[in-house]
Amino acid sequence: TVNHCADWMIHSSPIPWIGETQSYRYLGVEVSPKRGILPSDPLKEILPLLRKISKAPLKPTQKVKMLITYGIPRVVYGADMSLVGTAVLRKVDREIRNAVKAWLHLSPSTADGLFYSSRVDGGLGLPRLEKQIAISQVKRWCRTIQAKDAKCKVLAPALLPKVEIAKRWKVATGVEAEGSLQASLATTDPAVIGKRWRVSEFERWCGLRCQGRGLATFARDPISNHWLGVPWGLHESDYILALQLRSSTVRTLTTLSRGRRMNTTCRACGRGWEGIIHVVSQCRAFKKNRMANHNNICRLLSIIGRALGWEVTREKRITCPLWGTAVPDLILTKNGRGLVVDVAVCYEAKPGTLRRRAEFKVNKYDKFSRPICNTLGLSGVKTFGFVMGARGKWHAGNAEVLNEMGLPRSRKKALAKLFTVRAIRGTTGILKVFKKLSRSAQSRPP
Ligand SMILES: [Zn+2]
Repeated sequence: TVNHCADWMIHSSPIPWIGETQSYRYLGVEVSPKRGILPSDPLKEILPLLRKISKAPLKPTQKVKMLITYGIPRVVYGADMSLVGTAVLRKVDREIRNAVKAWLHLSPSTADGLFYSSRVDGGLGLPRLEKQIAISQVKRWCRTIQAKDAKCKVLAPALLPKVEIAKRWKVATGVEAEGSLQASLATTDPAVIGKRWRVSEFERWCGLRCQGRGLATFARDPISNHWLGVPWGLHESDYILALQLRSSTVRTLTTLSRGRRMNTTCRACGRGWEGIIHVVSQCRAFKKNRMANHNNICRLLSIIGRALGWEVTREKRITCPLWGTAVPDLILTKNGRGLVVDVAVCYEAKPGTLRRRAEFKVNKYDKFSRPICNTLGLSGVKTFGFVMGARGKWHAGNAEVLNEMGLPRSRKKALAKLFTVRAIRGTTGILKVFKKLSRSAQSRPP
């Protein structure tokens, strides 16, 4: 029966007539009178978006931001509403990852953890459609089944696409639904579904033997990870190197030789095994750069000290008949009181590395408290190690030094972030020189 009447109107806009085989785009999805919401093709939709962003005259970090803010949301709703299969979503995720890897000059073998861990844990916080769409679908069905409304209660079980949602349940929660799906949906709090998926990504990343090395130290650390969201204080080239550094994918002979047998003797110094830790914290070729980085941190600390009214003495030789000679980096004095601070920058190989180094510094300089008091005429001193991670880890104990210096609480966080960025830039500076050296070593005939 064809109803020959005038167009129905909503607020003076007509509702279009369509045939039974046609579809109409409504709220971002194609709706057909007979088949309901038609399946969308997120792969077909995302590829031109990725191509356009790739070509845009933007910085790599701007491309990533544009993708997350405008690109991905355009395909999410349709894919969610039309129950696009997990396999297709996995392909979309792979395309997105590959584009981001290309923009940020990351190795194709970079672990997923860098992309999907949340920023507070040191990841880029990229959406993962395979996971997030399944989570949102299961949550929605939980709420619908648990609705108080009487009509909803009757209709929901009849409309539930059981096979599809059972599959999504497994993706969202990681386990099969116990007993009947409907019972699980009726008794589970929607807020807990998929709550930990980014944490699981981070844990998997930490568990990787090479790329996960020392990453656990960056968990739940908004200060050491702040630059991942807004590359504040870092040039694009530093940001990209910092990402490679964080994911242990800097191109050294060790990463290049994975799975192959080749000579991994350091191309910069000709000694030692060319891995990232060697280059950053041991290689003789970069000793000067390391000294400069260390001095940069000392300089920043002394500037803060002077601004807070401390007199700063750098590298004062202190001798004691019992323990010999010590040269602490900084001695800050004010009103007959002193703070002895020794700075270190070290690679975060294990979660306890920085803490142990700080303790070592305290033990080393504590013994010199009395000679320091005598030399500078002080009534008492406190000794600290101020340790920064070469990959930007802000050691929690450093805050105590800033406290003792009398830094207002409101400024502590911003300064901690500044130290983090300084430490990262120091290391990326070394890596830039290393890249040049290794390139020229490669072009030399054997
Ligand atoms: Zn070396």
